[in-house]
Parts: sequence; structure tokens; C-alpha cells
Amino acid sequence: MNRPITGELQALDRAHHLHPFTDFKALGEEGSRIVTHAEGVYIHDSEGNRILDGMAGLWCVNLGYGREELVEAATAQLRELPYYNNFFKTTHPPAVRLAEKLCQLAPEHVNRVFFTGSGSEANDTVLRMVRRYWALKGRPDKHIVIARENAYHGSTVAGMSLGGMAPMHGQGGPCVPGIEHVRQPYWFGEGRDQSPEAFGRACAQAIEDKILTLGEDNVAAFIAEPVQGAGGAIIPPESYWPAVKAVLAKYDILLVIDEVICGFGRLGEWFGSQHYGLEPDLMPIAKGLSSGYLPIGGVLVGDRVATTLIDDGGEFFHGFTYSGHPACAAVALKNLELMEAENIVERVRDDLGPYLASRWSELAEHPIVGEARSLGLVGALELVADQASGARFDKSLGAGSLCRDLCFANGLVMRSVGDTMIISPPLVITREQIDELVRLARQALDETARRLKN
Ligand code: PLP
Repeated sequence: MNRPITGELQALDRAHHLHPFTDFKALGEEGSRIVTHAEGVYIHDSEGNRILDGMAGLWCVNLGYGREELVEAATAQLRELPYYNNFFKTTHPPAVRLAEKLCQLAPEHVNRVFFTGSGSEANDTVLRMVRRYWALKGRPDKHIVIARENAYHGSTVAGMSLGGMAPMHGQGGPCVPGIEHVRQPYWFGEGRDQSPEAFGRACAQAIEDKILTLGEDNVAAFIAEPVQGAGGAIIPPESYWPAVKAVLAKYDILLVIDEVICGFGRLGEWFGSQHYGLEPDLMPIAKGLSSGYLPIGGVLVGDRVATTLIDDGGEFFHGFTYSGHPACAAVALKNLELMEAENIVERVRDDLGPYLASRWSELAEHPIVGEARSLGLVGALELVADQASGARFDKSLGAGSLCRDLCFANGLVMRSVGDTMIISPPLVITREQIDELVRLARQALDETARRLKN
């Protein structure tokens, strides 16, 4: 019934639309899948399929689709004041109220927020704040930021440079200077010759080695996600963060924790850094801040940096037209209020996270799964050709993208990063829907295994 619409939109899409992270030529054959509407944890496409969104859009629709309260918050604010800026000593109620709410929810040492329009802009802001902080401290030489290989921190030039994704660096470099990368704590992929704990300590040691190579007086900050999301839902060994914390303290290096994915309940705390007992100096945020209903991001600024920026800094020549946009801020504030009222964070920590962990770990027995891991409501499966040795499939088989496509066709969105399958569903998912997710994932694994063996 919907086919003519699908075909027409696909043709227009092919003719005019350059999508993010898409091989434009590959659209020629199949065309894009067209998502038309959504409710709860399900999206619907123009072919009439209902699909369980195991990725919450792009890790962001934390409250699920179709929340009227968020629509109303946006509409009311658009009527009242659709736009004003926060430049030059002006502001408006939604930006101020959202700033207050965020600082209430954040750890005690965080009492300021700088708004942006996205997570990428938040990380650009981080880079400028870090450099400005050390300059104001009279230590401009402390300017290098250490980040991690395979990390994703956004698509602006600074975001892509902080990120450690080689294919991004390879398309249109040079990157922003003064950014160095160290290995990621990806035990299954890179550390299985050691115990997870020994590997976690070795990854922290790699940071110290890098600091000593660069000279401790030259290193300004270390940036990482608590759990590396787009890199493959990489949950670090328990030994990693305590050891990293100690290294950074030893050399007086700022800690930046990118909370764009892990913030707002994903790991069962308001901020992922709280799960690991971290006290970041800066925390870029976005995505779940508004459950993705409108674009908004920001940087939560700890007292150490804020005090210097405010007391010693004068004007900070930085900001975006949509920094703290009124309608986006109103939606974000309502989103946080609903999350609090519905105890979403506690439910993830005490009920849904442990439930997902128990159901998800059953998939570790599947013959093409080498590891099934999860924390809160983020999880990953490592696809392998041989379970005993953990050997991967030949790259040319594209096992991960095959499994992802089979999932989608079977009514589940999972993401693939190489041969790692990822889930990050809306935080309002129910236990029954987790059962459905696991059942659909298992079916896709069965079918992937069948096709790869033929
Ligand atoms: N940081 C992390 C950890 C992310 O996952 C992303 C996006 O996926 C970003 C930053 C960039 O956010 P945005 O796409 O809103 O610019």
C-alpha cells in the first residue's frame, strides 16, 4: 500500500540527500529505509513494518518516542519565546532553569554549564576551555589533550580530531594539532593474552607512558567516555578507571569525561562517571539530555575550571547562536523532570540493567558469539567464527553488517561496529520488551550463522 511513497521518497533521497555516515553510491541499489513514525520503543517504516529500536535512535531517545509532555513543552515555549540568545549578558527562563536543574543532578563539584547545540560542539568547547584554563593559570605549554584510539567525540574538526577513528582522520585531515591518542581498554579485541584486570592496568600505564614521552608539563587533559559507545560499547575492566585516576592526579592533568552517551541514565546513574566514582573537571553532554526530541548539548564545568574561567578570565570569546535555545532547553528540562518523576535512573540501575544483563548473557552460548557484555542499558555481542579460540570471521564476509541487516529485516535495530553488535535501547523499555529484543537478536544470530556457513 505504501510502496509508491517509498519509491518516490527513495528516488528523491538518492537524487538530493547526502546522509551522514553513508556510502552514497550504496544507496543506488536498495535505497534508504524510510522511518515515518514511532511510539514507545518502536519505530515504523513506510513499508508498514514495526521495528523495536534497540539503539534509541542514535543512543538518545532515552524516554522513548511519542511523549506528549515533551511536545507540549516545545510548543508552549515556541509560542512564548521561540528564540532568544544567551550572548552579551542576556538570557531567558528555560536556559536558566535548565542550568539549575543540571547542576542539581550533577556531582557536587559541578555548578556551571555552558550550552551548545550538539555533542560535537560540546567537545569543541571542551578543547577551548581546557586550553584557556591552562593559559589563565600561566601554563600555556600545558596544551596537549590525550584521547583514545577508536573513540568517537563528534564530527566537527575538533571533535573528529579528539576522536580516534582512523577512517575519519583519513578523510580530509590534517587534524587539530596537540591531540595524542592511546590504546583503548578493549579487552576482548586487544587484551585477551592477559587477564582483564592486568589489561586494564596496562591501558592506564599506556597513558602514563604517553605523558612521560610528551613531557608532563605539556599535557593539559585526558578525554574519554566511561564506556566507549560508538567504538563498540567497550566496558573497561574494573581496574582501569581507578588506575587512570591515579595517573592523572600524579601529573595534574584535567579529566574530561564525555557523557554524551553515558549521561542521563544509560549506565544506571545520572552520569556514567558516577558509576566509576570519577570526578571529572569537564563533562560534555547532549543526546539523552533532551531524549533527542530537540538538539541540545553542553559542557558541565567543575568548580576548578569554572572558578578560573570566571575569576581570572574576563570574556570567553566562544558560543553558538543556538547555545541554550529556548525551545530545546524547555524540552530538556521537561525531559529531566519526567526522568526524575518516573524514577528512570533507579529503574535502570536496580531492575532493567540487571535484567538485561541476565538475559543478554544467555546469548554468550550462541555458537557465533565470543562475548556478551552489558552495563545498565548498553550491551554488545562479539561475533566470532570459532568460539573456542575467539577467532574472528574473515573480514570480507562482513558478518557484523550482515547480522545488522538481518536484525532490521526481522524487526530489531542493532548497530554493528565491525563484528561487534551493539544495543542501547530506550530507558523506558519493559522486561517483556527486553525478552523480545533478546529473542529477535537470537533469531538474527541463527540466520547470520546459517548464511555464513553456506
Ligand atoms: N561524543 C560522543 C561520545 C558521541 O557518541 C557523540 C555522537 O554520537 C558525540 C560526542 C557527538 O555528538 P553530536 O552527534 O550531537 O554532535
